[in-house]
Amino acid sequence: MIEIVSSARCTACNICVRVCPANVFDIVADAPPTIARQDDCQTCFLCEIYCPEDALYVAPDAEGPIAITEDEIDRRGLFGSYARALGWKKGRLGGTRDDTTWELRATLDQKKKANP
Ligand code: SF4
Ligand code: SF4
Repeated sequence: MIEIVSSARCTACNICVRVCPANVFDIVADAPPTIARQDDCQTCFLCEIYCPEDALYVAPDAEGPIAITEDEIDRRGLFGSYARALGWKKGRLGGTRDDTTWELRATLDQKKKANP
């Protein structure tokens, strides 16, 4: 469930508002969006994945808020952690440089050649 929008990190781009399929956020003029309908969160992580500033934290527990603080999220390096785990940030920084699926394809090609 969505837990935090960090006002220290957020640049109020409102991308999270636009991508959220459950209309959880409300836009605030010249300020970070508010989590207006936390109970409607589907724990889909889209807002965290798309946030360009790693300013959001979605806890994996979909049943309810876990009462985690912004300081704890920061200390544990959790801001943007789901996006990084998916390889999303790697994709941004290094293009396909960090994509290792070619190794799997190369192995399969070699096996096909050896056993046509
Ligand atoms: S996407 Fe991130 S930076 Fe943009 S408004 Fe939402 S929390 Fe703030
Ligand atoms: S996790 Fe999904 S449903 Fe929940 S606030 Fe983010 S985008 Fe909306």
